[in-house]
This record gives sequence, C-alpha cells and structure tokens, in this order.
Amino acid sequence: MARNLSPKCKICRRAGEKLFLKGDRCLTSKCPMLRKPYPPGIHQRPRKLTEYGKQLMEKQKVKQTYGVLEKQFRKYVKMAIAKKGDNRENLFRILEERLDNVIFQSGLAASRNMARQIIKHQYVLVNGRRVDIPSFMVKKGDQIKMADKFKKTALFGQRKPALKNKKVPGWLDFDIEKLEIKIVDWPLFEEFNLLESLGTVIDFYSR
Ligand code: SF4
Repeated sequence: MARNLSPKCKICRRAGEKLFLKGDRCLTSKCPMLRKPYPPGIHQRPRKLTEYGKQLMEKQKVKQTYGVLEKQFRKYVKMAIAKKGDNRENLFRILEERLDNVIFQSGLAASRNMARQIIKHQYVLVNGRRVDIPSFMVKKGDQIKMADKFKKTALFGQRKPALKNKKVPGWLDFDIEKLEIKIVDWPLFEEFNLLESLGTVIDFYSR
C-alpha cells in the first residue's frame, strides 16, 4: 500500500502549524514547531502566497492530518460533493469514519500513523471480522473489537496508562476493559478544528 514517507515534522513546518502527526511527542518540548516554526530548507524566506497557494496549503493541511494520499483524497472530495447536504460536513464525515481515525480517536493509538500499523498487523475486528484496511469506512452501529493478542503487545503496554485520561469523542462508545468501540452516532462537525480549511478544500477541487 502506498504511503507518504515525508518526514512528519517537516510537513508541519511547511504547513506552518502543528498537525500532531507524531503522537505524544507533539505535546512535548521536543516538537520542532517550537524551536523552528518556519518552513524547512536553508534558503527559505517568508513567502507571499497567491490565492491558489493558500488553497493548496489548506488542502495539504487536511490531507496530511488524516495521512491520506492525493488520489484517495481527491476521491473523497468527489464523494463529498456528490452527496446531499453540506459538502464540508460530508467530507469531514468521510475522513472521520475511516477505521484508522476511529482507532486513533479512541486513544488506542497515539497517532493515525500508529493506528494504521495496528490495523495492518490485523489486530482489529469490525463486527467480528478481521479488517486490515486502514481506509475501511465504519458506520453507525458498527462494533470494533481488538484481537486478544493485541493486549500482549508492547504497543498496547505503552498506550494503556494514557487510555483512562483520553477524551473520546461522543460518537464513539469505548469500553476500556473489553477494548471495544461502538459507533453510536455521527462524528460531530462543529468540534472540528480545521472547519474553515474544509470549505477551502472543496473550493480548490471545484475550480
Ligand atoms: Fe508536527 Fe508533532 Fe513533529 Fe511537532 S512533533 S512538528 S506537531 S509532527
């Protein structure tokens, strides 16, 4: 499966804001955005962005936040525009309902990248069936369960202490003891921090 292998912190520095792509490290003083809050490269000067440049930057921000490659992201935007209702909300839901995002939002993974690894290692069951596709779309009523062998991994050992303090979004019902997540509602659009960027993304692809 194709992946974006660009160094994560450089992606943030190019975007000019923290995109929280490296899990717990992003919350520490080791985050390069604190020491070097400017674009990477020795000859970088402050750039005056054109309208196109601004739209491109916003699009990259949303795409990189979810770790989606261009081809798939374009497909998601097309799906969002084709659906009824607010295009921005449609796109938001499509991105949020990816299985890797659900694992990340539950706190079982410190980042979406880590969530993708967990899924690809076949530790996740959806409605009783093993799913190893990070882009798998969940829906209301779905039940996600971690395979028993996941509890024995070093990865779970690292995440376990953080789980109790993790604020899980209201559309997910997470049973920490059983490691089961139930999708009880739709993702809440109003709580999304990149709300304005979504409108720009739709405009970018509608040109
Ligand atoms: Fe971005 Fe996290 Fe790297 Fe900071 S530590 S630059 S938030 S990926």
